[in-house]
Amino acid sequence: DVSVVLFTADLRLYDHPPLRAALEGPRQVVPLFVRDRGVADAGFAAPNRLAFLADCLRDLDTGLRERGGRLVVRSGDVVEEVCAVVAEADADEVHMAADASAYARSRERRLRRALEAEGRRLHVHEAVTTVVPPGEVTPASSDHFAVFTPYFRQWSRQRPREVLGAPRSVPVPPGIGSEELPSRASLPGISPGLAEGGEAAGRKRLAAWLRSGLATYADRHDDLAGDATSRLSPHLHFGTLSPVELVHRARRADGPGAEAFVRQIAWRDFHRQVLAARPGAAAADYRTRHDRWRSERTARDDIEAWREGRTGWPVIDAAMRQLRHEGWMHNRARLLTASFLAKTLYVDWRVGARHFLEWLVDGDLANNQMNWQWIAGTGTDTRPNRVLNPLIQAKRYDPDGAYVRRWVPELREVAGAAAHEPWKLAGPDRGRAAAYPEPIVDLADGLARFRRARSRG
Ligand code: FAD
Repeated sequence: DVSVVLFTADLRLYDHPPLRAALEGPRQVVPLFVRDRGVADAGFAAPNRLAFLADCLRDLDTGLRERGGRLVVRSGDVVEEVCAVVAEADADEVHMAADASAYARSRERRLRRALEAEGRRLHVHEAVTTVVPPGEVTPASSDHFAVFTPYFRQWSRQRPREVLGAPRSVPVPPGIGSEELPSRASLPGISPGLAEGGEAAGRKRLAAWLRSGLATYADRHDDLAGDATSRLSPHLHFGTLSPVELVHRARRADGPGAEAFVRQIAWRDFHRQVLAARPGAAAADYRTRHDRWRSERTARDDIEAWREGRTGWPVIDAAMRQLRHEGWMHNRARLLTASFLAKTLYVDWRVGARHFLEWLVDGDLANNQMNWQWIAGTGTDTRPNRVLNPLIQAKRYDPDGAYVRRWVPELREVAGAAAHEPWKLAGPDRGRAAAYPEPIVDLADGLARFRRARSRG
């Protein structure tokens, strides 16, 4: 008997329920990844994520080979390719993980229909890409939670399933054709500081995080220069690490750091259950505030300056340059840059969300769009009109200016917190910062414009 395991956002061997189920009984398995044309057509195939994905596929193949198997890679329409492999291997069932986006759910429906027409079965496994599946906890009056705190209360009462080990052996039938695995070396446009992908790299990072990051997370997670968050987000996005395993292992470590970390993992599930219930929120306001945002056409210069990190607001520019250099940005920096675009510049949040998705290696429809909406005040924030002041925030979360100096070379010679206010520099310091641009917007003007706009709504 043969099963096909379709890998999607779960590129790992540890704690993988679909693979475990497929291997039950005297079964052979075809581990399959389809480079889905639909994902590229939707504009979701950004260079940084393609590079990370290439690492993931190579590492998955290595792990499978160590277990007597290998990875089969195909390109094209995901449903057609799965059906072709099922026919070649004469498989009677397909296993895959459930996922929250509208695209993932329509893929699942199409696949089920196509397989059932051929008399084959599709098994979709929950709690692979999330800890608590969307829809599993709901308030009395709705199909999803619109506020995080009550969601988290119920989420915390759930008992996640047990963690599964990696299989010892994965017998793959011979003769199933595979394309060559992609390699990051051949891909253009990748951020120079992009992290390495793959389950082995993810497990290494996880071990280091549990050993020497988690305990101080509660105190240090907002420290921009300290860079004291886990950086596990791309591994969660591609599923090289299991969120269920992360929660179990953090809880075992215990303490305030572990508690704060588990809460962030719950945010990830929270956004997924919002998007699963309201798929339209990926593109349209979750809550209408009657904004008449400045658009790409009306605010072209401001948007360009923001994208390129030359707004004249040092902490914003540092963050936007980190994004391009690493394909990743610190959470506090994401909050600041998003608030700056949506509220201080009053530009449509979708413009910012699109730019983030072009660069983020962890770029994720649920997390990105729902966090952008949260900041823009069109999402689930219960204080939709709050505006983050980039100067106050910079002094609080980068008190010594080290984050700015790391990413903005024009200000590298300016000592201490003075790097946050280059317009105040005098004497030789002024000369050292001469190449740095003037602010493109006055914070008080931006605030007044935003308040006027929202009071009209
Ligand atoms: P840690 O602080 O170590 O947190 C651990 C994990 O918890 C993260 O890896 C992530 O999976 C989850 N998490 C943490 N914060 C959040 C949050 N606010 N919402 C949802 N999950 C969270 N995260 C993405 O994974 N992909 C995105 O595309 C994305 N876009 C964002 C856009 C904006 C405007 C903002 C404000 C936040 C966005 N986030 C996104 C959430 C968050 O910034 C990142 O998950 C986090 O910075 C990743 O770094 P880390 O792994 O070191 O996080």
